[in-house]
Formats: sequence, C-alpha cells, structure tokens
Amino acid sequence: MRYYVLDRGDQLSVDLSEQFHKLAAKHGFRLDAESPEIVVSIGGDGTMLHAFHTFIDHIPDIAFVGVHTGHLGFYADWQADELPQLVELMSSASKSGSVRPRIVKYPLLELEIHRKSGNFSYIALNEFTLKGMDGTVVAQVDINDQTFEMFRGDGICISTPTGSTAYNKSLGGAMVHPTIEALQIAEIASINNRVFRTMGSPLLLPKHHHTDIFSRKEQRLLLTIDHVNIQVDDLISVRCQVAKEKVSFARYRPFPFWNRVREAFLG
Ligand code: NAP
Repeated sequence: MRYYVLDRGDQLSVDLSEQFHKLAAKHGFRLDAESPEIVVSIGGDGTMLHAFHTFIDHIPDIAFVGVHTGHLGFYADWQADELPQLVELMSSASKSGSVRPRIVKYPLLELEIHRKSGNFSYIALNEFTLKGMDGTVVAQVDINDQTFEMFRGDGICISTPTGSTAYNKSLGGAMVHPTIEALQIAEIASINNRVFRTMGSPLLLPKHHHTDIFSRKEQRLLLTIDHVNIQVDDLISVRCQVAKEKVSFARYRPFPFWNRVREAFLG
C-alpha cells in the first residue's frame, strides 16, 4: 500500500504522524509522496483541505482518510488514540481484502475564473466565495445563462455538499447530504430594500445546472477557494458547476453524515 501523511504541524499531530509512519513500516506500507493510494490527514478539517489541494492533480487515484486531533470532524473519522486500530484495518484491507474500506465519493465544485489577465480553472472541496475588499460587491448572478438577479452586498458563497457544514452553514445555508450532487448558492449580507432586491434564500442547483457571477463594477475582490485566497481587480466572471470528478474517502467503519452533524453541532 502506497501512502502519504499530512499533519497540521502542532505537536500532537506531528507525534501522531511519526507514530503512523512507524506502524505503517511494521505493516509494510510504502511512503510515496508522488502517487499514494491513501493520503492520511492528521489535524482538522482544515488539514484535509490542505491535503486535498496538495494532491489536486491526482484526485481520481487517491482515497483520503482523516484523523482528527481535536473533536471528530466532517472529513476526519478517527480519533488520535485510534491510530493503531486504523493502521490494522488498513493493513487487513490491503492484504486479504477482508476488511475492504468502503470508498465513498463526494461531489466537488468546478470553477472557471475569467479575468482580463486570463482564464483559470480550480476545484473546491468546501466552497468558493467572492467578497468585496472595498465595500459593497456589485455582481450579476446568472443561472443557466439567464439573468437571475443583481447582487449587492458583502459577497456570495458557492458550496459543495460536504462544504455545506462549513462557511455555508454560518450564512444560514442548508446542510446537504453529500450523496446529493448539487451546489449551493448562499448570500453574504445582501442589501435588500425598495431599490435593491435579491432572492435572499439559499439556492440548490443540481449537477446539470451552472451559475455565472459577473463583476458589474470596477472593484477589488477577494476570491477564496477553500483556504486559498486570491485578490483580483480584473474579474470578468466566474462559472460554477458541480465538477465531473469526485473526491474519494476510505471508510474503514461506518460514520454516517447525520451522526457527524449531530456530534459536531449538538454534542
Ligand atoms: P479556519 O478559519 O482556520 O477554520 C475554519 C473552521 O471551519 C475550522 O473549525 C474547520 O474545522 C472548519 N471546517 C472546515 N471545513 C469544514 C467542513 N466541511 N464542515 C465543517 N467545518 C469545517 O480556516 P481553514 O482551516 O483554512 O479552513 C478554511 C475553511 O474555513 C473554508 O473552507 C470555510 O469553509 C471556513 N470558513 C468559515 C467561515 C465562517 O464559518 N464564518 C469563515 C471563513 C472560512 P477544523 O477545526 O476541524 O479544521
């Protein structure tokens, strides 16, 4: 089994990372930074975002596993003290196939960013946001090439189902089960009065739909793709749609999505 480990960099995560390498060596796993089959993220959901973007060019060939060093996360199934159990299960799965992991595949968000300086493509695991740097954002939102609304406000967030529990949730968006192949549009503090009007409700678009956001004034904008920030002053438009590829997670034991939601938000 070819594996790679990324950790958050705090002492506990670094120690666990070393422990993982030792256990992995005992079981004959091979460390491979170029083409791992399994990428283990040790830290938090933020660490998983880093792991995902580190291997963005190899997503179809990799399954991710998350070990959380805080509480259980949305992308992390395993607690720090369960590392030996995880490695045992990974080992049995790779040798005999008796404890084959369930590979679950979740939707991603595909972005085409059109700027005066060129066109750029990205994939997000959680979400894309567009925010103003100097005040109110003015942007036209189209859905399937039809003008939908003129947005004025702090910004717009487009999330994946697994990202729906992150920034999107803080914006009052719905939590979406990741088997639903959709993207969600949520407003960030829109201006609504007798002159300016937006829908005001989060919208869910199915995978065969797309939305375009057009910058409608000269404005400095902050674009975020998960944890990555890009400042632009020449944005023309951004097209968002459910990506053709999906991200894979290896589940060595069941941890249903709604249990994660309950544990994370209700305790
Ligand atoms: P961060 O500001 O250090 O962490 C943001 C928080 O979001 C962390 O507690 C992280 O969990 C949690 N998180 C990440 N993905 C999640 C998911 N899919 N479901 C539930 N919680 C999730 O930033 P970061 O670690 O670089 O992560 C970037 C993410 O922060 C963005 O993708 C965005 O979703 C989120 N964010 C949220 C807000 C907000 O809610 N107002 C504002 C900005 C950004 P861990 O502690 O386990 O890492």
